[in-house]
This record gives sequence, C-alpha cells and structure tokens, in this order.
Amino acid sequence: MNRQGLKKAKRIVIKVGTSVLASKDLALDKAWIKAFAGQIAELLKQGREVVVVSSGAIAAGMHLLGIKKRPRNLPDQQACAAIGQGHLMNAYEEAFRKKGFHAAQILLTWEDVRDRRRYLNVENTLRTLLGKSVIPVINENDTVAVDELKFGDNDRLSALVANLVDADVLIMLTDVDGFRLGKEACVDSVDSIDSQIESAAGGTSKECSLGGMKSKLESCKIAMSSGVHCVIANGRRKDILSEILRGERVGTIFIPRKNKMQARKRWLAYNARTRGRIIVDGGAKEALVKKNGSLLACGIKKILGEFLYGDVVSVVGEDGVEFAKGLCNYGSADLEKIKGLSTKDAAKVIEKGFYQEVMHRDNLAVL
Ligand code: GLU
Repeated sequence: MNRQGLKKAKRIVIKVGTSVLASKDLALDKAWIKAFAGQIAELLKQGREVVVVSSGAIAAGMHLLGIKKRPRNLPDQQACAAIGQGHLMNAYEEAFRKKGFHAAQILLTWEDVRDRRRYLNVENTLRTLLGKSVIPVINENDTVAVDELKFGDNDRLSALVANLVDADVLIMLTDVDGFRLGKEACVDSVDSIDSQIESAAGGTSKECSLGGMKSKLESCKIAMSSGVHCVIANGRRKDILSEILRGERVGTIFIPRKNKMQARKRWLAYNARTRGRIIVDGGAKEALVKKNGSLLACGIKKILGEFLYGDVVSVVGEDGVEFAKGLCNYGSADLEKIKGLSTKDAAKVIEKGFYQEVMHRDNLAVL
C-alpha cells in the first residue's frame, strides 16, 4: 500500500502528543481538540474506525496546579496525571459529543499487554467499542505505572495499540511537518529505517513531551515489522487527517515491506515477556527467516539463561542479534541435552514430552 492505498485504510490509530494538544502554558487547547473531534467525526462517517492514543494528562495536571517544570520525581508526575487525566477525557468527551459520538477512556500498563489473557481482554473491549462507533482514547495508566511497568512513552504505546487492534495505519501527530534528514525538506516516504535515518533523529527538549523523533522512529519500526503503515505529520495543520487519508503528500509515510503479521505472532514479537536466549547457526536462521521453517535442535549452538517449557524465548544469530521470538517446547535444561542433535538422536535423549520442533513455525515470530 502506498499513499493512494491510505484512501482505503479502514482502521486507524492516531497518536496525539502533548505538544499538539496543549498550549504553551500547558492548558489543554480546547479549540484544537474541538477541531480534531470534527476531523475524526468525518472519518467515522466515511465508515472508518478510529482509536486515539493521547498524551496530555501530566501537562493538564501541571497546568491546574500551576507547576511550570515537569516534576522529576515519579509520585509528583503520577499526581499530575491523576489530576489531568479526568480533564483530558472531559475535553474529548465534550468535543466528540457535540459531533454525535462518544469517547471511551482506556488506561494501560505494560502488564495489561504482556499477559496474553489481559491482552485479549483489552482487544475485545476495543473491538466492541469500535463496533459501537465509540472512539477509544487510550493513555498510559500513569498513576500506577512505575518504571518497570512503563511503556516508556506514548509513541511506543501507540505502536503496540496499532498491533493490538490490527490497524491499517498509525498516524503520529506532532508539532513538526514530518521526518527530516538534516536541514533538507521533509522526507516523503521511507521503506526501511536504516542507520542513516536513525542517526538523523533526535530526542526532545520540551518540558512536557517525552520521546521526540527518535522514539517515533522506534515505534514506526515496531509497526512496520508487523506490516502496519505509519505516517508522521503535523497535528496543527488544518484537516491533516483528511489530507493524509486522501493520499496527499503531507508528512512522512513509512511503508512496510512485509505483509501483516498474524495477530498471535504480533503479541509474541512485541508484548510477551521473554526469558533466555537460544543462539542458532546460519542454516537455522535461514530456515526461520527465509523458509518459514520451525526451529529444530540441530541448528542450536548455545543456550543462555533459564526458561521453562512454554516460555517465550528469544532467538539470536551467531552475530548476537536477536531475529525472532517464539514459544519454546522445551525448558532450558532439556534443550541443553539435545542442542546440536538430529531430531532422531534428540528423540532418544528425551524420553517424555518429545517434540520434533523446538519452536513450531506457528509459534514463532520473525522480527
Ligand atoms: N502519559 C503521559 C501523559 O499523559 C504522556 C507520555 C508521553 O508523552 O509519551 O501526560
């Protein structure tokens, strides 16, 4: 799908950064939110489905408390988020209601998408809301998320949400026109995020925003490797969403080379908690990456860390780079006994619970 293909995009995730929806004094920009709701209402009327991932809770809380500098400590940030989140949702609900729609608040932490059952619960809720033409407005559950439970920033969260709802496109609205290489004009389209592109991207120096272009590219990578298109564009431009979805040349589009990854594999690749690493030889890597094969004991060189039967384990090439993740049919102790063996010899070693495949292709996601 190229830009023209965006005309047909049905399910759209839109990420809104604090720099777009808050004014300089960190107050929520109600006029912007109103116009944004108007744009989304148009998309719904065209038969599209929209999920919003919105920052702005901490900024809104800071504004209400008259705090100018983002607090450094977590409890203060959490307090600001707790105060601001209600105001943020209020602003969205009011704006959508005037257009004949409703907003629904969903607050997530890592735990909610890492655990397969909770992940499916969130997915079901989102699908139900979309089926009722309600606009889910998602944010990180800042008030309970301590560092180890955090997504990091909402750019990353939006890529995981795009995976979760099987979106056709992820649109990240920010306060710049798109991705730039140095001082040149914005790049129109990118089909692979290489080191040249990565080194051109910086973080952010803004008081209330996290992320910046660097984390947007990271998120594009996640979305692209599951086959989701991304667009980075200026959220302050009038009618930006319609322009993008009419296929016009605005912002930067990131076009994945792959087709969409299956739903279960998307969860395996980006959400599941991984334990341990399996280092495989070149032949095994080729079988997994190019031939959609399963991982067999004969291709395994080394096992690092401890894991149990059914854990999600990272698969690494001889160069040390992780290239796949999968559900492992063996715990690390048993795998240690059969690594490097042919399937026939492995069967002699493992008396109970023998599997031909160490990881079956259906339970394995190539990154
Ligand atoms: N969850 C934060 C907030 O609502 C924003 C995080 C981010 O900007 O990435 O303020």
